[in-house]
Amino acid sequence: MSSLYLLLGGNLGNRETFLQQARERLAAAVGSITACSKLYETAAWGKTDQPAFLNQVLALQTNLLPEQVLHRIQGIELDLGRERIEHWGARVIDIDILFYNDLVLQTQRLTIPHPQLQNRRFTLMPLAEIAPNLVHPVLQQTIAKLLVICDDPLKVSVYQE
Ligand code: ATP
Ligand code: CA
Ligand code: CA
Repeated sequence: MSSLYLLLGGNLGNRETFLQQARERLAAAVGSITACSKLYETAAWGKTDQPAFLNQVLALQTNLLPEQVLHRIQGIELDLGRERIEHWGARVIDIDILFYNDLVLQTQRLTIPHPQLQNRRFTLMPLAEIAPNLVHPVLQQTIAKLLVICDDPLKVSVYQE
């Protein structure tokens, strides 16, 4: 069994429903979910007419290899996009691999740990909620510490229904 952390995000359609469907499919296709952060909302920057993003971090236990995880999560992204808003080009759900055990991997298709996680408050906040003491295998800092030193100016707040 391997320990896997995923970031889910979306800013189109019914965001909570897409996150929930993604969780259900991940539990069926990737592995059992052992922890879920709350939902966090982040205003989209740059394009100000875009709706705000909802993000969530999940911890899972999986028997799959990293490439297999990537393949399954891309299948889920495609399925959910197709089902809900077929004619839209945009994705309703994005699923990124944050960590896979303490693996450090860089290939054309896959970089683990996710190369931007330390720069993104919308990733660190939910991750720090469920895994504050996890040590980043490259940066050798805990998630709690990475959040303290993160200079991302984007405001992230716990999302209330
Ligand atoms: P970002 O990765 O900066 O958040 P994004 O999520 O919008 O950007 P995508 O278009 O979803 O980027 O993915 C582009 C490619 O990134 C995927 O096809 C995949 O091969 C690659 N990739 C590399 N590392 C990872 C990772 N850790 N998790 C998910 N995809 C990854
Ligand atoms: Ca992403
Ligand atoms: Ca992605």
